[in-house]
Amino acid sequence: MTATDPDAPAADHVSRRETFDSLDPATGRVVGAHPVNSAADVDAAVGRARLASQRWADLGFEGRAPLLTEWKALMVRRSDELAELVSAETGKPHGDAMLEIVLAVDHMAWATRNAAKVLKRHKVSPGLLMSNHAATLEYQPLGVIGVIGPWNYPLFTPMGSIGYALAAGNAVVFKPSEYTPGVGRWLADSAAEAMGIGGLLEVVTGSGPTGAALCVAGVDKIAFTGSTATGKKIMAACAETLTPVLIECGGKDALLVDADADLDAAADAITWGAMSNAGQTCVGVERVYVHTDVYDEVVDKVVAKASDVEAGSGKGADIGPITMPSQLEVIRTHIADALARGGRALVGGSDAVGDRYVQPTVLVDVPEDSVANTDETFGPTVTIARVADMDIAVERANATRYGLGATVFAKERGEELAARLRSGMTAVNSVISFAAIPSLPFGGVGDSGFGRIHGADGLREFTRAKAVARQRMPAPLNLTSFSRGPATDKIVAKLIGLLHGRSPKRG
Ligand code: NDP
Repeated sequence: MTATDPDAPAADHVSRRETFDSLDPATGRVVGAHPVNSAADVDAAVGRARLASQRWADLGFEGRAPLLTEWKALMVRRSDELAELVSAETGKPHGDAMLEIVLAVDHMAWATRNAAKVLKRHKVSPGLLMSNHAATLEYQPLGVIGVIGPWNYPLFTPMGSIGYALAAGNAVVFKPSEYTPGVGRWLADSAAEAMGIGGLLEVVTGSGPTGAALCVAGVDKIAFTGSTATGKKIMAACAETLTPVLIECGGKDALLVDADADLDAAADAITWGAMSNAGQTCVGVERVYVHTDVYDEVVDKVVAKASDVEAGSGKGADIGPITMPSQLEVIRTHIADALARGGRALVGGSDAVGDRYVQPTVLVDVPEDSVANTDETFGPTVTIARVADMDIAVERANATRYGLGATVFAKERGEELAARLRSGMTAVNSVISFAAIPSLPFGGVGDSGFGRIHGADGLREFTRAKAVARQRMPAPLNLTSFSRGPATDKIVAKLIGLLHGRSPKRG
């Protein structure tokens, strides 16, 4: 199976008229050709997924788990081939592509193992007033989930929706980014091979209009990862049909360093958190606030580490190219604005932005209202600022319209500072660790979006709660009948007074 497989099943059999190429951003070489799926193709894919969804739901947790495990195992057995494809379409080093696979597989294992525990029917207390009832709650699959994915982690990110949606009993139609369609195709083909249920994971390829068509194709939910601007368009399109949405957009994540932190570990985390994947990480470190007592030391350490990081395609390269060419201009503008407004580049700078690659750039003295500090840069750049105390650090970190991830390096106050940061996730004394812990939900606040992938919340995200109240015996007091008389009302009034009428004791 390759990205160019002419026998690829599913959506592309409908329209072979128009195709587009996915390119290796490191070289411009064509990696594969893929169909531009029309709205009719998308509708057909959703139709096939709809049929599969019933069969999949009927299998139940016990029937689905072995199939999902088989798919996971196939991904592992072919991880070299998959990593090669991820690397070719994004330009990231093979090792980084492999890391994506490892994390995606670990999440799939968790979702498969925990789906029944989190979602299956269970009893809940009916309460005293309704004690003649048995109450049960279960989380049923929604049906067909549309997943619109990004290019920066073309496997790990969409699998956070695809894996959890499947484990919860849904079928999926996946629209990968136009920069990474081959990875989407690979996922759909391998899912069909491992699980043998046609239509269970459909892939539709193309650019924005294909994604837009998916929003109005009658899916039961859209899970989107990408920019805030596109997230808003998707939400508006989905509003027409009250299709629910999960929106995971970018961030402007801050990392805080307190005076008592392990400074070597903090500098390592800053450098890796900001530069890895060439900075194209939604929870990448973009801003750093350091306690004044340790500021100079931290800056020196980051400068030393970042100077060793090389963007390129050779064997010694640590990071690859910028996957989406238009991002180069965004990065260039952010660096230029920072420098024009009094900032200094201690590593990199204006010359760091090339035709395909951006070399690491460490900026200091950048005004807080520079775009380098307010907007998502999505490049291997970082700003570092001195703060007089950690309360100011929290205030500045929170002064953003985004709120995805955050990081704190501190010994004494780590957890306290973490709790005060307005973000969906915070790592303490490590970086981006939350994304690798499958039981932790992942998602943002504000312009970073809403809804959660991963963890129990990530499973429930692709379900509807189903509540059942079953009367076990006639009620001593029948409240839901016109035969209810004044005597019953009197008893109820007395009962409610006893149960809920007392003020709490104040100590
Ligand atoms: P977009 O938000 O434009 O694209 C994300 C996905 O949405 C892609 O699959 C895209 O398809 C699809 N899409 C585009 N327009 C529509 C539409 N109208 N309806 C439905 N789907 C649509 O992001 P970009 O790739 O253009 O990146 C822009 C910026 O977004 C980056 O600079 C970065 O700041 C941020 N970003 C954040 C990510 C994150 O992880 N949170 C991931 C990627 C980007 P197609 O690619 O084919 O156009």
